[in-house]
Amino acid sequence: MTKESIIDFYKEVDTETLIVEAAKVCQKVHGNGVWLRGLIEFSNYCAQDCLYCGIRRSNNKVTRYRLNEKEILETVKSGYQQGLRSFVLQSGEDPCFQASVLAGIVEKIRNGFPNAAIVLSCGVKTEEEYRLLKKAGADRYLLRFETSDPALHAKLRGGIPLERRLKALSDLKEADYQVGSGYMVGLPGETEKIRIQNALLCAKLELDMAGIGPFIPNPDTPLNEAKQEDIILTIRATALLRLLMPKTHIPATTAAGSLDKFGREKMILAGANVLMPNITPIAYRKHYLLYPGKICIEESGEQCLGCLALRMKSIGREIQSGRGDALAL
Ligand code: SF4
Repeated sequence: MTKESIIDFYKEVDTETLIVEAAKVCQKVHGNGVWLRGLIEFSNYCAQDCLYCGIRRSNNKVTRYRLNEKEILETVKSGYQQGLRSFVLQSGEDPCFQASVLAGIVEKIRNGFPNAAIVLSCGVKTEEEYRLLKKAGADRYLLRFETSDPALHAKLRGGIPLERRLKALSDLKEADYQVGSGYMVGLPGETEKIRIQNALLCAKLELDMAGIGPFIPNPDTPLNEAKQEDIILTIRATALLRLLMPKTHIPATTAAGSLDKFGREKMILAGANVLMPNITPIAYRKHYLLYPGKICIEESGEQCLGCLALRMKSIGREIQSGRGDALAL
């Protein structure tokens, strides 16, 4: 199917039919297996002030923290011992974790765990910084554009143009990363047309990974009174992405599981094939609240892995171990 015919199909059919078709594509390309990425939220400091984000610079209700190098390495070690082979190091845009500092940590992970995938999600950096981190051993980088609408993007991100993010994504490709991006679903000011454009932008960028999740208004942000859209929008967006991007890895995000008890299962059934258990040390997790009601705050990494395995079994999927690298597009 062409992109145009997929969009027509998306517009015409009911959600159930859309999900069935997306699930067929997912099954054919990815089978029953679901990859795991251990998420380590290593700093909740951020120099930016995105309107929707709970750890934005201006939110003075946040207890700020940074994991030190030793804590990060121990967290990776513990996840590795539990079978994880892919680690996502995520932070706000923290000036204390300059590329040179991060590169030192990446290098130690690379040397200590040579067969593990290292994924960074630390915001916009220069092309040189991305290259430095790649050279240190990083394999992948996640940088969501959040909305493809330039005016909405600038409004939500304190005037920073969408172009800047797109330039960073292009720099990451040039630096030979496996690249992930994505968007929020249900942002205030978003229309169905924008939602379709969001999915088309993911396809145009030829992403190796595409992450989406529902917008959940945070009471400690300027969008505190925004409307909470139904999870169904995120499920439909997942199915559309899967149809447009059969080979791309798509996570069933924690935000979906926070909005709906079975949100992650619903995303998997609509075409997602990745889960991201949070393995951040428990003492810090409650301080990385991008949105309220976030799940998996109190459980140990081990408990999370056990829970996810059971959840996947309940819908006929199974956790698979390994790096889960990008498929050739
Ligand atoms: S969305 Fe990212 S860049 Fe924006 S305030 Fe939150 S952590 Fe910072």
